[in-house]
Amino acid sequence: MKKLSTLNTQSEYLSKYRFFPFSEYLKEKFPFKVHKIALHAGFTCPNRDGRVGVGGCTYCANESFSPNVKEPYLSITEQIQKGKSFQRQRYGAEKFIAYFQSFTNTYADVGTLKAYYEEAMADQDVIGLSIGTRPDCINGEILDIINSYTKKYHVWIEYGLQSIHEETLKRINRGHEYKAFVDAVNLTKKTCINMCIHVILGLPLETYDDMMKTAEAVAEMDIQGIKLHHLYVAKNTALAEEYFKGNVKTLDVHEYVRLVADFLERIPPNVTVQRLVGDTHGNFLISPIWRISKANITAMITQELEKRGTYQGTLCGISALTNNSQKSNLNESRFHTIEF
Ligand code: SF4
Repeated sequence: MKKLSTLNTQSEYLSKYRFFPFSEYLKEKFPFKVHKIALHAGFTCPNRDGRVGVGGCTYCANESFSPNVKEPYLSITEQIQKGKSFQRQRYGAEKFIAYFQSFTNTYADVGTLKAYYEEAMADQDVIGLSIGTRPDCINGEILDIINSYTKKYHVWIEYGLQSIHEETLKRINRGHEYKAFVDAVNLTKKTCINMCIHVILGLPLETYDDMMKTAEAVAEMDIQGIKLHHLYVAKNTALAEEYFKGNVKTLDVHEYVRLVADFLERIPPNVTVQRLVGDTHGNFLISPIWRISKANITAMITQELEKRGTYQGTLCGISALTNNSQKSNLNESRFHTIEF
């Protein structure tokens, strides 16, 4: 393990958080306050509608982490207006990234996709696009469309990976193999689209080594962002049935904090950290019930890394000393100048 003294303690975000928060990246990148607006375009998911599978991933209760799914249907324009007014009031946000969050946001014909994406970007305060999807729902034609937006907008695609292990993917009924993810990443690497990868820690029967192998595999990919979630059991899911049979255990918050610290130590320091804990709404949650705010869990993760004297990337072979040059490479190769 590298010692504290070998790392770049001048880096403000590393010394403050011990990892690279996306919010800090946005502050560095833009001269105005940028926030995401989560959108529900009305897409479904091939793992729920029968095309790939029925019932979805065993933990899937999209309603529990995408609150707008339950709201009466609003057009994209109306959702943007509503999101802008909320984010402005609450956070003083000035510009916005339209985040197509709910279900699988590349699961439609290209004409439909273009119409939704471009409706969101038509708002003069929207400066970016982030599209959440499954790796088996992407192809060259869709990527070409998304890539065409990178000339003027700050563009991300978010792939759900969850785990690199085939046994786990089967167990949670992901409906695709790891190879689908690798193919999607390789295809996306040829574009100027930024990639953010979602991983769940604490999946049924996954060992510590399994999770760290996922971290090491992700660390080797040319990605720009990571979202970590803890496994939680939500009502009306297949996972809930397994949980009540006693076949599934969820993590204690302290175990989770240690796992996140272990995971981040393996992730290069130039990868933005966009989420560190899963998000669900109280009414849906069965387990774990931590009664600790997300901000406090984030602070606990920073404290854990401080206690160890380590940082994001300490164990990945890329020290934070090289972080500044990597960051500028990332800026040049992936993030285009935005014209307003
Ligand atoms: S891919 Fe996403 S929306 Fe589809 S079933 Fe899995 S968690 Fe649910």
